[in-house]
Amino acid sequence: MDIHEFQAKELLKRFGVNVPRGGIAYSPEQAVYRASELSGDKWVVKAQIHSGARGKAGGVRICSDEREISEAAQWMLGRMLVTHQTGPQGKLVSRLYIEEATKIAQEIYLAFVLDRKEERVVVVASAQGGMEIEDISANEPDSIIRSVVDPAVGMQAFQAREIAFSLGLDPALIPQAVKTITGCYRAMAELDANMVEINPLVVTQSGEIMALDAKMSFDDNALYRRPEISELRDKSQEDSRETYAEDRGLAYIGLDGEIGCIVNGAGLAMATLDMIKMAGGEPANFLDVGGGASPERVLMSFKAVLNDRNVEAILVNIFAGINRCDWIAEGVIRAYRELDLKMPLVVRLSGTNVEQGRRIIKDSGLPIITAETLVDAANLVVNAWKDTKPAQKGAA
Ligand code: GDP
Ligand code: MN
Repeated sequence: MDIHEFQAKELLKRFGVNVPRGGIAYSPEQAVYRASELSGDKWVVKAQIHSGARGKAGGVRICSDEREISEAAQWMLGRMLVTHQTGPQGKLVSRLYIEEATKIAQEIYLAFVLDRKEERVVVVASAQGGMEIEDISANEPDSIIRSVVDPAVGMQAFQAREIAFSLGLDPALIPQAVKTITGCYRAMAELDANMVEINPLVVTQSGEIMALDAKMSFDDNALYRRPEISELRDKSQEDSRETYAEDRGLAYIGLDGEIGCIVNGAGLAMATLDMIKMAGGEPANFLDVGGGASPERVLMSFKAVLNDRNVEAILVNIFAGINRCDWIAEGVIRAYRELDLKMPLVVRLSGTNVEQGRRIIKDSGLPIITAETLVDAANLVVNAWKDTKPAQKGAA
């Protein structure tokens, strides 16, 4: 789960990380008022969306007076802000964060990520942070500092000091840098975050170290024991297809293709996606209905899959161990009728009560295509989907 910049800053502040003073605004008037509560003669208006690279997209503006603040706020609020991380549809800006502007002497990149190969948290840092960090990591990979944290002892002061020295920081700044680095690590470990990224972490002209941006992401499987974190969820920033499914306890991940998938078991679901691709199609989603799926649950899965406007054909692939094919079949029939399905539907059933399941589908008289094996099922659904597009097929 991702959170907003202002939320991440609030959390990190509790762990001793220095952040600029700021306030939230929902309207241009409020933005101006927030700025008036802060000191200084320049302010930064920042669009709060779950994405980085807002600066290059117009979502971060440094303003010198009320008129500029009001104009920036008007431009941002209500906009679907498109950055190179949001996808072409962008993300809705409904909140702004107004901060005192900081005079920057140096921009540093500092991130804490999970390295799955090392099975450890790794600190990634660069003395050249800011908006061009991606170019730097591509063109000067050797300038990137990496430091692996031993989970048994956590981030130790000496290790943080080493990182700070590698960044070439002035010795006078080392204690502040150590406080920041150990604070971020503690926030990550104690809040079950799986990513903390500060870009830029700046050295100010007055010799302070300060996090000007902050991004945190959390382990969904740990949210049950972090109620104060799960409250920070902003569903308006998430894939609405995934939110719908998640709210109903379905394991669903939205993809970009046209073939909707309803499968039981994560492994079989992954294999099904591969088979669809090998058959020349593109899956629209990953969906694991889970074991013991009742007809209601199958119907719900169909609804989740059909929430995606791109879906043009559906494949149901069930290998029933704990599941029962007759229940699945009943769910499929109900979904077909209740949702008035107009697209090709291929069903492959195997395992417990398979004969009953197949009979239910046959007796329904509905134009459901059935398959015996996964290979057949994938080919059938992709071909049926292609048949719905005679024009493209003719051109090919
Ligand atoms: P991002 O583009 O979504 O990563 O948003 P950031 O919060 O990182 O802001 C983008 C850029 O705006 C930063 O890399 C800074 O260079 C600049 N910026 C942000 N806040 C300030 C500030 O208070 N003062 C100055 N001078 N620049 C700022
Ligand atoms: Mn940033």
